[in-house]
Amino acid sequence: MLVIGSGASGLAAAVSAEKAGARVALATKGSLQSCNSAKAQGGIQAAFGEDDSPEQHAQDVWKSSHETANMELVEILTSEAPSAIHWLEELGVEFTRENGGYRLARCGGASQKRLLQVGDRTGHAITKALRDAVESSSITLFPNSPLHELEPGWTARVGDHTVQADTVVLAAGGRCFREAEERGELSTNHPGATGEVTKIALGLGAESRDLDALQYHPNGGAWPENMQGYSIPETTRAYGAVLLNADEEEFTDSLGPRDVVAQAIVDEVAKGKGVETPDGRPAVWLDTTRISAHDAELSLPYMLRRYRAGGIDPLAEKIMTYPVLHYQNGGLVIDRDGETTLEGLYACGEIAGGTHGRNRMMGNSLLECVVFGRRAGRAAADRH
Ligand SMILES: Cc1cc2nc3c(=O)[nH]c(=O)nc-3n(C[C@H](O)[C@H](O)[C@H](O)COP(=O)(O)OP(=O)(O)OC[C@H]3O[C@@H](n4cnc5c(N)ncnc54)[C@H](O)[C@@H]3O)c2cc1C
Repeated sequence: MLVIGSGASGLAAAVSAEKAGARVALATKGSLQSCNSAKAQGGIQAAFGEDDSPEQHAQDVWKSSHETANMELVEILTSEAPSAIHWLEELGVEFTRENGGYRLARCGGASQKRLLQVGDRTGHAITKALRDAVESSSITLFPNSPLHELEPGWTARVGDHTVQADTVVLAAGGRCFREAEERGELSTNHPGATGEVTKIALGLGAESRDLDALQYHPNGGAWPENMQGYSIPETTRAYGAVLLNADEEEFTDSLGPRDVVAQAIVDEVAKGKGVETPDGRPAVWLDTTRISAHDAELSLPYMLRRYRAGGIDPLAEKIMTYPVLHYQNGGLVIDRDGETTLEGLYACGEIAGGTHGRNRMMGNSLLECVVFGRRAGRAAADRH
């Protein structure tokens, strides 16, 4: 079995397939660490709260997707979320805890506090644990080996190698880095997020959905310069920060679904009620001074460090923000085990579509990577 990509979804698929008895190879474009997953900060959703349930989580996804998600995939996502978290813990991830339980935050579009965090380096912690598991296994690794060609059957050209595999799992992520370059915009994504693997799968006849639905993160950093294109964690708003216009008025529910909040910011600026960065970019205020020092130190230490290095203390002054291109909501059509519409070809993570419909909630992407990475890895292994 061959896995393409070393983000959270590819690593989860590879580890699960090996555990299920498959001989596994993993090829990735750059180094093993180079992926969007490692940049993820805010957290991962799972219904652990007292008044929460996987059903409630599923309803929130359905609403945030504006009733466009595939509910079969959503129910798998939310019902397997708690066991996915326990699996990550077994691999060594230590989620932030307080008062004997997980420290849970409420993210945009959620009806309950449901977001688990590892400070504000959640993706870093998850990918590190998964990489450790891969590196201590017998999985054959091909770093710096981008997939160039794939023939049904399956024969893959990865870098200078030709690999023959019974099944292939595509886990090559989204395309927002390239899309932003083409639009002349900023993106939160790593430079490998360029989408050519999706094109290869489409060329073979795989079906896709919602590929036109790209997500803007409501809170891209706008100033200082070193923070432009940085995704200010949504947990800032979960812990009390609110969006303000030039007159210091709240103009939207700061914890609404992502697309609604991003659109409200764009509209406010278009009405002339925004502010301007010193280099002339549009922005509104994010009033981070409302976050308590306790919450910031526990859940936003990395964000604080980066802003303070740029000469701004977010606990003492408001920061400037504007939406930034962030995530590919749609992707290859998959079934409940991650199989695409082509037999023996699987897809998981950001390259796959359906789980979020046309608008993803924060914290459900890392979850999707783990839940569907595991399912795709196990199912691909079982086909041997
Ligand atoms: C800054 C930032 C913050 C985020 N914060 C959160 C968060 O708090 N919570 C959350 O749930 N989600 C968050 N997300 C979204 C989430 O991190 C990603 O959507 C998710 O991790 C994608 O995982 P993936 O495994 O599908 O893809 P990636 O992690 O992007 O991995 C894709 C892999 O495929 C490789 N690849 C690409 N092309 C090829 C090729 N041709 N051949 C071989 N390999 C290839 C890449 O090099 C990479 O290794 C965030 C994203 C960003 C950018």
